[in-house]
Amino acid sequence: MQTKLSERARSLPRADEAESILRSCVHCGFCNATCPTYQVLGNELDGPRGRIYLIKQLLEGQEVTEKTQRHLDRCLTCRNCETTCPSGVTYHTLLDIGRAEIERRVPRPVAERALREGLRYVIPRPAIFNALLKAGRIAKPLLPRSLGKKIPHNTIAAKPRPIARHARRMLMLEGCVQRSISPNTNAAAARVLDRLGISIESAARAGCCGATDYHLDAQGVGLNRARRNIDAWWPAIEAGAEAIIQTASGCGAFVKEYGHLLRDDALYARKAERVSALAKDLVEVLAAEPLDDLPLPPDRKRIAFHCPCTLQHAQKLGGAVESTLTRLGFNLTDVPDSHLCCGSAGTYSITQPELATTLRDRKLDALESGKPMVIVTANIGCQTHLGGANRTRVRHWIELVEDALPLP
Ligand code: SF4
Ligand code: SF4
Repeated sequence: MQTKLSERARSLPRADEAESILRSCVHCGFCNATCPTYQVLGNELDGPRGRIYLIKQLLEGQEVTEKTQRHLDRCLTCRNCETTCPSGVTYHTLLDIGRAEIERRVPRPVAERALREGLRYVIPRPAIFNALLKAGRIAKPLLPRSLGKKIPHNTIAAKPRPIARHARRMLMLEGCVQRSISPNTNAAAARVLDRLGISIESAARAGCCGATDYHLDAQGVGLNRARRNIDAWWPAIEAGAEAIIQTASGCGAFVKEYGHLLRDDALYARKAERVSALAKDLVEVLAAEPLDDLPLPPDRKRIAFHCPCTLQHAQKLGGAVESTLTRLGFNLTDVPDSHLCCGSAGTYSITQPELATTLRDRKLDALESGKPMVIVTANIGCQTHLGGANRTRVRHWIELVEDALPLP
């Protein structure tokens, strides 16, 4: 596609990147076929090709309004379009550049700003998030039903973590909301890895991966969180940590981008590249291990796996959890349209509740069509969003593996 960036857009630090992505799009529209928002709304401007066109107009200096912003806001950043695109258009990078620019040109109403800033303040701070979660659970019966449904159920308490006793060491991103909503996920991962001869090291100063800030258009704050994590992990990396594990695929997708996003940072570029190279989703680590060492009894429990977009479209790991669970003897049901987003998409279920609920209900219908006893997934956002419907129970897949293991 031909482009002619405006003077203003030319001065943006990522102007060349935006221009090259715009030029790589041939406007064929294949991507619309797999775009969840296009499927629900049927409007060209709520599909990837239309959004690319809107960003082109924005960067060419044409007038933009709240309407343009709304079409970009409705994008889930699920990256299904990238998987479909035959021309390799890196749509999410263009969207990041476009969203940052529209944020500068179109002021948001006060209520929207307050919501977005509130989310950015609370989500990366586990102590505050946890306190609000506890208060919300107590007040749930008094809240309007629509709000009460957003508050996750009581959590499964974390089982004890094994002491670090193996020569093989890996770091694990502890994350932010997952610590409060599903504290057993990382504990279960540590217990399974311990059986495989791998110990988990913690890095006390590491925290939120930065994705929440970054995707709510506070990109500088998100990158500072990335720098802080790099500093926190660096001593263990230099001491030989083999990998940095993420049990939430949304965080993993972002940590794997640190290298690209900080490539022009003189102080952090080299370290960020190393961190991204070491970043592994939990399934990548397990899939490479001799799983016969796990004494799992034959399990015929029917389970449905929801593959998060951040696992299949961003990290390109579609099918990895399914084959690992099958190797371990679990009985997986077929899930139609498994490439489609569940509507969680970071904070999307809060900023775009109607679309998110429509997508969630469609996803649950698909997941439940094979009559599973439980649904498992690989991302805390999807787990909470799908579980919020109060239908089939939703857990992280590693908890099922850990539950099935006999006591050591
Ligand atoms: S993003 Fe890819 S699939 Fe979509 S219109 Fe452009 S070239 Fe075609
Ligand atoms: S990222 Fe997802 S919602 Fe956004 S345009 Fe691409 S397919 Fe559609």
